[in-house]
Amino acid sequence: MPEAPDLQVVSEILTRRVVGREITSAVVHKATVLRLMASQDFPTDVSGRTVEAVFPKGKFLFITLSGDTRIIINPMLTGGLQVCPSSEKLFRRTRVTLTLDAGLDLRYLDDREMGRVYYVREDQFPEIPQLDDQGPDVLADDVTFEEFKALMRPYYGEIKGILCRGTVLSGIGNAYSDEILFDCGISPFRKRRSLKDDELQRLHHSCRRVVQEAADVLRERMGDESHHKIRDFLKVHNKSGQPCPACGGHITQLTANQRITSYCRSCQPGMLLKN
Ligand SMILES: [Zn+2]
Repeated sequence: MPEAPDLQVVSEILTRRVVGREITSAVVHKATVLRLMASQDFPTDVSGRTVEAVFPKGKFLFITLSGDTRIIINPMLTGGLQVCPSSEKLFRRTRVTLTLDAGLDLRYLDDREMGRVYYVREDQFPEIPQLDDQGPDVLADDVTFEEFKALMRPYYGEIKGILCRGTVLSGIGNAYSDEILFDCGISPFRKRRSLKDDELQRLHHSCRRVVQEAADVLRERMGDESHHKIRDFLKVHNKSGQPCPACGGHITQLTANQRITSYCRSCQPGMLLKN
């Protein structure tokens, strides 16, 4: 679920609320999400460290701690982070709690335990699955059009699938790929090789703009609640049958490979080819 706009705003909230604070204790409620590489005794090893920085990198969230360890989170579809007073009741889906000084908790939530929380040192980054396969970050890295084209070149398939791989630009998933393709008027089923230069240019532009605008909305609406998931403002994703905001026609929605694709047939022309 979390994609670049969500992770950007979550990291801003965490930067405001937990950077500079010391971890005084930790509790693992459910160990299945944890991958301990820096130390097997996570609660003891992490206690006494200070949170130095929080930032997103593609679909991962990095939490840098003093003394050269990191907590790196791949939330997948269901992971989230909550900052709240330590006195607040735990959600059932809380998997890990870090108690900080000043009576605050940083909690990792994950109702289906699909996400992963890695505790690592920097030399162990290559052991984290998918981390190194990621392309430049859609928000943080300023990729030029020429670079974007070069990153696209090895791929021949449908454009939505290519965007979601995260190897061209990272941080774009199922929801925001639909929004980006709607924004630039390109059918999600177009093959990369069929896209002309001006279309690729529009796509390149939309990737950044859509993610940036979504982050602006989320920043405003999430406030300090980093575990709130807000998607109701999206224009086409998961809006099956609702009017297209551009032409008033109906949004079409298909399910393939267990994920939905939403688009407008008239604003995003292109044949849907059955394989
Ligand atoms: Zn339309």
